[in-house]
Order: sequence, then structure tokens, then C-alpha cells
Amino acid sequence: MSDSWQMIVGLDVGADRAIDVIGTLAHDLCARGIVAPDTTNDWEFVPGPRAADVVDPEWAAIQGFRPNNVVRLDLGHQVFASNGNYEPPPCPTCDRAVEPDEHIRGIERWWATRIEPSLQCNGCGYHAAMGDWAHHFSLYVGCVGISFMNWPPLTDVFLTETGTRLSQRWRLIHSHI
Ligand SMILES: [Zn+2]
Repeated sequence: MSDSWQMIVGLDVGADRAIDVIGTLAHDLCARGIVAPDTTNDWEFVPGPRAADVVDPEWAAIQGFRPNNVVRLDLGHQVFASNGNYEPPPCPTCDRAVEPDEHIRGIERWWATRIEPSLQCNGCGYHAAMGDWAHHFSLYVGCVGISFMNWPPLTDVFLTETGTRLSQRWRLIHSHI
């Protein structure tokens, strides 16, 4: 059986601050009843009694929540990957997609050097840091994130609130394994 993840990734938090940021967020989500601790794993949570407050109500009505709808805290320098959903990001200006090879090389450099490279559009010349090329099926490098496995779609309000609590710049990835 395949799994889908909604991954919220913070781009501007270094390894030194990541544990404080994610710890504070996890504590708050537990206090609000959105998630509940998984007693077998400190880095994972299960849906809490108020989980339905932060998801699309129609999906929640159809699908409901299951104990295996894990929420995972992602900590440490890593590539956050869309896996089977991968697509190179489209240009924010002219919509032309980056060449996949060029994109993957940039991600590898970002991961290896921990310095975020820039990408230039071959169509219109738009030029920006890799993390500014927003795309739900792309890849990003970061030190902190939170992933919701097989949850109904999270609401835009919750995504924005959670993302901005992680980092000034944050991205959503839909990952499929
Ligand atoms: Zn362009």
C-alpha cells in the first residue's frame, strides 16, 4: 500500500535552532488536541481529539482518521522529497519548468554545501534562490519540518499558521511513496 505525506518544511531555520522550533510547535499541537503523543516514539504523533479542526471537512467525513495517520517531526539537515510525485518547479513568471537535471544538481549542491543556490529560468531569465521556486511536487533542503501521513488535506489556514511558526520561508510538499 502506498503512502502520501503532506510535508511542511522550514527553509530558514538552522540546525542550531531546529529542535527548539519543532519542540515548541509539537507541544502546542498537543495542547490544542490536534495531535496526541505516540507512546512508542518521541518523534511521532497520532491524530488528537481535535484533528478534524485543521483538515478539509468533506474529506474528513469520507475518510476519517486512523491510528496510523502518523505525524512525524523532521529534524536535521536533509532533502525534503516529493518522491514519486516529483516535478521540477515551474518558473513563477513564465511557467516554464526548470530542466530536471539542472534542478537536481542544484538540490545536490544545496544539500552538500548547505548554501542555497539560485536558479535561472531558461525562458524569461527570472532568477531567484531555489527555495523561492514554490511547487508542491518539488524538493527542498532544510533542517526542520513536520509531515502528516495519509491525513485528509490540511486547511490553508493551518498550513500557513504552521509554516510560519516553523520559518519565515516555508514550503508545502506533497510526497508520495
Ligand atoms: Zn521564466
